[in-house]
Amino acid sequence: MILRSLILTALIFVFTACSHSPYTGRKQLILVSPSQEMQMGLQAERQILTHQPISHNPRLNAMVRNVGARIARAANKPNYHWEFHVINSNQVNAFCLPGGKIFVYTGLFKVVKNENELAIVLGHEVAHAIARHGAERVSMMELGDIAKQVAQRAAGPKYQNMINQAYGIGANYGIFLPYSRKFEYEADEIGLYLAAKAGYDPRVAIEFWNKMRQMSQSMRKPPEFASTHPSDIHRIQRLQAIMPRAVAIYNQSRR
Ligand SMILES: [Zn+2]
Repeated sequence: MILRSLILTALIFVFTACSHSPYTGRKQLILVSPSQEMQMGLQAERQILTHQPISHNPRLNAMVRNVGARIARAANKPNYHWEFHVINSNQVNAFCLPGGKIFVYTGLFKVVKNENELAIVLGHEVAHAIARHGAERVSMMELGDIAKQVAQRAAGPKYQNMINQAYGIGANYGIFLPYSRKFEYEADEIGLYLAAKAGYDPRVAIEFWNKMRQMSQSMRKPPEFASTHPSDIHRIQRLQAIMPRAVAIYNQSRR
């Protein structure tokens, strides 16, 4: 009985750490504080910038910075330190670190043909950041134990390991473990609203994700933002279901 009440107390403590995803209102259990999360992001960003070739292509950098700034403004998170980097790599990919560090590979532009399509990808990545999916994943993975250690330590190899696991960053930063399908759908949804709010037509997303779906079917490693099952037709159906709300936000943004 004593054990049971102890467990109950622990559960009550844990559930006070509940927060909600923006836009969708989904309940989340997050045991990592925003400032710890920011620090995780900064540390990982520094590592990636040291080990990955930065692109100096002026056109791509300007495009990513411009679209990124508009999406970030729409996200309306003054505490985030948004950074948008372009990395030279043939991979069709983009990803985000906690606190708003977004990376886009030059290979992405084999599929992304204009600013509107880029807005769909960046919306999705920014959504992962503001919905704190990394922190939520850490909390889910290591409920209790590791989260406590994170609270106690600011750095160290174990900490780094956890960041890598949480963000699915492999040893060479090229290998991504998929987020759960739930996170991907949520990033799609929030991302679509953000793109719409930033003044990009959300209807472009349907054709764009179809294009990505076809492309990722032929790829050995599908990109982060297509990391749910490549033949996932449900993704398109869900986008269609939320499209009216996205279009309403888009119309509002153009007034
Ligand atoms: Zn994603």
